[in-house]
Amino acid sequence: MSAAQSLQITNVNVFDSLAGRINGPFDVTVDGSTISTISPAARPESSTDAVERQQTDGTGKTLIPGLIDAHWHTAFTTVPAQVAIMGELGYVFAQAVVSARDTLMRGFTTVRDLGGPSHGIKLAIDQGSIPGPRIYPSGAFISQTGGHGDFRMPNEVPRGIAGHLSYSEIIGAAIIADGEAEVLRGTREVLRRGAAQVKLMAGGGVASPYDPIDVSQYNQGEFRAAVEAAENWGTYVTVHAYTPRAVRTAISAGVRCIEHGNLLDEDTVALMAEEGIWWCLQPFLDDADAPPLAGPNRVKFEQMVAGTDTAYELAIKHQVKVAFGTDILFDAQLATRQGALLAKLTRWYSPAELLQQATARNAELLAMSGPRNPYPGRLGVVEEGAIADLVLIDGDPLADISLIARPHEAFTAIIKGGQLVTAGT
Ligand SMILES: [Zn+2]
Repeated sequence: MSAAQSLQITNVNVFDSLAGRINGPFDVTVDGSTISTISPAARPESSTDAVERQQTDGTGKTLIPGLIDAHWHTAFTTVPAQVAIMGELGYVFAQAVVSARDTLMRGFTTVRDLGGPSHGIKLAIDQGSIPGPRIYPSGAFISQTGGHGDFRMPNEVPRGIAGHLSYSEIIGAAIIADGEAEVLRGTREVLRRGAAQVKLMAGGGVASPYDPIDVSQYNQGEFRAAVEAAENWGTYVTVHAYTPRAVRTAISAGVRCIEHGNLLDEDTVALMAEEGIWWCLQPFLDDADAPPLAGPNRVKFEQMVAGTDTAYELAIKHQVKVAFGTDILFDAQLATRQGALLAKLTRWYSPAELLQQATARNAELLAMSGPRNPYPGRLGVVEEGAIADLVLIDGDPLADISLIARPHEAFTAIIKGGQLVTAGT
């Protein structure tokens, strides 16, 4: 990556991520890390611009805000689960570095990390040592014993009074905490390490060994302990949950965002709308992108995806604030489909709506980190003064949303913080 430069993209159409439409053509200039001007495209001969800028011809192209994935796992995106749990840690991080670059090259300039040791990679990216997206880290996810974040071997319980740490806890992937005091300490530990938001496991999961999908995890007091600690630091708690009971318990304790929620009923969705709770939904379907699961986890997956259509329909009906996140985990092939998963939302949304979700809407969710937001400034919009995270698309994504699914062909420039990101850097 080169140092911050002055850029000008001329005669380009611009996606207004707040209004959901394309306007233009404009000349867009970037100075330092922010967008400095957006003005009606001038004829080349009338340009009186005195500043020397790197010029890009945007004719026939569309400038959109950098894409945001609101549910990501920086450390474990591409390595198989077995490697993450039992493999060489240095290898896991080496693959995560590669994956971070690939994420950025797919036009995702920001991710909200929902669990795992992402702090070191974030630091290296922020320093400019390696290419990658902005990371809003949660650090370790916090799980009860036997919960969705308990990846210990079957013979590792009882824990014993010495309370030795399991491997996933040592590497900062998980905190296994029971009771208000332990949850409180776990929350304070992740905040100490720089969490932008706090992630708890509130119910059963698909890819976890000990918890049926219908179970609720943590009680109100435990959630409240985490919520108070997070709010004392100006940020919020989000939870992994699929079912109404898990979601209702979490919301009653002050949790502000739900991850997944594919099995929610209408009353619970209405409650989320009423309380202004964010819903970070994934287009999980039993299609070519389904994970290769077998046995009980495959059954849990089928139970969960059966709710996906209803979840999106209810979210739309009740106008819940929906964020887009892929939750790609342990799957190098699926990671290449990050943009395709976004394009898949045409099952429920217009191209404009799904692009709004992955830009302006997701940015609104990121801003909930308040003073713990690691990247203050406006993200998710192409506006004067906003952070210059931009993707230049060859064509009109509202007319052909498949462009989003083919970043290596269709994205002619990716800009992060005013810097042109190029392949091989
Ligand atoms: Zn996840």
